[in-house]
Amino acid sequence: MADQGVVLGSPGAIALEEIEVGAPGPAEVLVRIEATGVCHSDLHVIQEDGWGHAYPVLLGHEGAGTVEAVGEDVGDLAAGDRVVLGWKTACGVCATCLRGAPRQCKRPPAAAGRLLRRDGSVLTPVLRTGTFATHTVVPRVAAVQVPRELPVEQACLIGCAVATGVMSVLETARVWTGARVAVIGCGAVGLSAIQGARIAGAAEIRAIDLDERKLEQATRFGATHTEPGPVDFVFDVVGRRSTVEQGLGLLSSGGTFVLIGLSPGGETVEIDLPRLFQKRTTILVSHGGDHLPQEDFPKLAQWALDGTLDLASMVTETAPLAGWSDALEAMKGGDVIRTVLLP
Ligand SMILES: [Zn+2]
Ligand SMILES: [Zn+2]
Repeated sequence: MADQGVVLGSPGAIALEEIEVGAPGPAEVLVRIEATGVCHSDLHVIQEDGWGHAYPVLLGHEGAGTVEAVGEDVGDLAAGDRVVLGWKTACGVCATCLRGAPRQCKRPPAAAGRLLRRDGSVLTPVLRTGTFATHTVVPRVAAVQVPRELPVEQACLIGCAVATGVMSVLETARVWTGARVAVIGCGAVGLSAIQGARIAGAAEIRAIDLDERKLEQATRFGATHTEPGPVDFVFDVVGRRSTVEQGLGLLSSGGTFVLIGLSPGGETVEIDLPRLFQKRTTILVSHGGDHLPQEDFPKLAQWALDGTLDLASMVTETAPLAGWSDALEAMKGGDVIRTVLLP
């Protein structure tokens, strides 16, 4: 059967179409996508004019599947391996990587030109992965082996929401045991941050969301309170003026504000600088929780297997690839934690 993918051909024009998937080149792998979460960043790509991706765009970036073929120079993965795809890889050769900070690398490698539209035009896979598809080709470093015992519809969530939320707490902010934490925005990333805070041993975890349904869910993932209060750490998964202002207002002296959510273009906020100084507030940006797929995915997968992380409860629905449109609508409406498409 021909390969298929959900393609954003031009602004606003999205369709499930036949695509052509080439063979993996050196240091690349061909992966059969078996599950892919529907994440807000795909909506961001659609709503923010491609978000820096050249048209036509192959949507999807939170995928897991099975390796079908490997290119030259790939000795440590083989056909049949279960992998989660990672978008926040490191190049290993830039100045940032060479000074020992691969988590801050801004030059992740891409497998260029392997995915084509039927008219021969080259597709740009979202965040170098392109998982709303039956197959994709990624750099070897972007395919991380995980145990097959972890159900694939749970495994895929590790690729974006779970890595982003959990690692924002453990890596970006390094929340300490006994800390008081607030999470603003309790979708899949927010619930993952709540789980990260639980793993870090936070004493208080405040879930903040305008949607009552999400607050109720948050308590099942570890939130201890569902109303605002003074905290040491705020994780803003929304990224709007109102949430940043609210978050800064909740911080106690010496507190840390962590921006996770993608703001719409042009969003700004005013900050009271004397107050910032007086409170000695730290402001951090979490780029996907500063995760590194090769290091973090195996650990997150193991936590899911041993019950430390609850991924099963995050999968609200599964649907075939053709259900992409309904899945995006359900996400906009806040009706689901995650819809996972099964290509
Ligand atoms: Zn680098
Ligand atoms: Zn995502």
